Amino acid sequence: EQRVVIAGAGLAGTRTAVLLREAGFTGTITVAGAERHRPYDRPPLSKDVLLGTAEGAPLDVDFDALGIELLLGRTATGIDATARTLLTDAGPLPYDRLVIATGAEALTLPGSAGLPGVHVLRTLDDAARLRPLLAARGSLIAVGAGWIGAEAATAARAAGAAVTVLEAAPHPLPGALPPRLTEPMRQWYEQAGARLRTGARVAAVRPGEVELAGGEVLGADAVLIGIGSRPATGWLAGSGVALAPDGSVRADDRLRTTLPGVYAVGDCASFPSARYGRRLLVHHWDNAQAGPATVAAHLTGTGDAAYDPVPYFWSEQFGRFVQYAGQHGPDDTLLWRGDPGADGSTGAWTVCWLGPDGTLRAVCAVDRPRDLAQGRRLVARGARLDPARAADPAVPLKNA
Ligand code: FAD
Repeated sequence: EQRVVIAGAGLAGTRTAVLLREAGFTGTITVAGAERHRPYDRPPLSKDVLLGTAEGAPLDVDFDALGIELLLGRTATGIDATARTLLTDAGPLPYDRLVIATGAEALTLPGSAGLPGVHVLRTLDDAARLRPLLAARGSLIAVGAGWIGAEAATAARAAGAAVTVLEAAPHPLPGALPPRLTEPMRQWYEQAGARLRTGARVAAVRPGEVELAGGEVLGADAVLIGIGSRPATGWLAGSGVALAPDGSVRADDRLRTTLPGVYAVGDCASFPSARYGRRLLVHHWDNAQAGPATVAAHLTGTGDAAYDPVPYFWSEQFGRFVQYAGQHGPDDTLLWRGDPGADGSTGAWTVCWLGPDGTLRAVCAVDRPRDLAQGRRLVARGARLDPARAADPAVPLKNA
């Protein structure tokens, strides 16, 4: 009987197990996850769970009914490729096929890990540690005005807690979007009563305080470090699984790794994209949701299509629904649909990026989900748009 072992019980690992069964796989499936919680969704952690309006978001999967063995609190420590065995902290797990789905871990600042009152937000336990501070309306400093910083600031303000967001770059969301888009977002912070300080480089974090590069010291009841994440692949050192320079598992376009019989999917894996002509490492929910279909199809021989998605993500911040699909490049032309408003803060708007030949490369929509849904399909098709029509928010994007 074939044995599939999956390391990591997040969305990607769980989806892979479920889709294997759906594809007709009849062998044994074992999912080993380091966390003690049953598999859950992470997006609510920085939203409802942080705010206390939800306890958590367990994935709706009946492991017993599907005949999937779930080993919680079980950490993978390495791979014995010759013996085809996953090594774990509680003994070896032999496999015929192995799927690496260990996701990502939050980045910290040097010397900040484990300090009292200094938080990251990646797991249910992280959210549970931070939640009482919001409930007590304590003060929070968020380091980084990325997705996590913006969403945590939103939750903090909704709870009535004071929050200051420190961002080293001159604009919020510096890694994701160009300044012309994020400049209007500055007002979102202000209107919510959150303080955003850009150009604020943090030199040191101590319990209850943050020191900026210029020497200024800011105090708060808690500090949240939201400066990004990196693939959780440290345990693969010496295993024979090749890693990319960014620490991700180097998968191919079928999500196979460099070790025979071993796949990698989700936040931990990068893959070559023919669509974009380069290797992609995607840290968004949709990629962990979609990638497992490729692994399950290839592993069971029920399909052999390359994995080459149009990346998609969303964020809910300051009462707005921000969505993005595609990948824009520095040479793409930026086109506005709708007006972010004179003070940069009102209204719904969409930005389209058009390539030199007029093809739609990427879409970013604020409170215009229909634009996003249509734009995402147009990006996937490589459709060309008429810039004048596309700039008219009254014309459905699919008719532009
Ligand atoms: P993970 O979810 O990281 O799961 C990996 C699992 O493997 C973890 O449980 C981990 O403990 C476990 N693991 C790690 N190492 C080992 C080991 N050695 N042995 C065994 N188990 C191990 N994306 C969006 O598109 N929109 C959003 O609004 C959004 N909000 C988010 C909010 C937060 C707070 C966070 C943290 C992420 C958010 N994301 C969002 C991103 C999205 O949640 C991730 O892309 C997705 O969770 C990736 O799934 P994954 O299964 O690949 O990895």
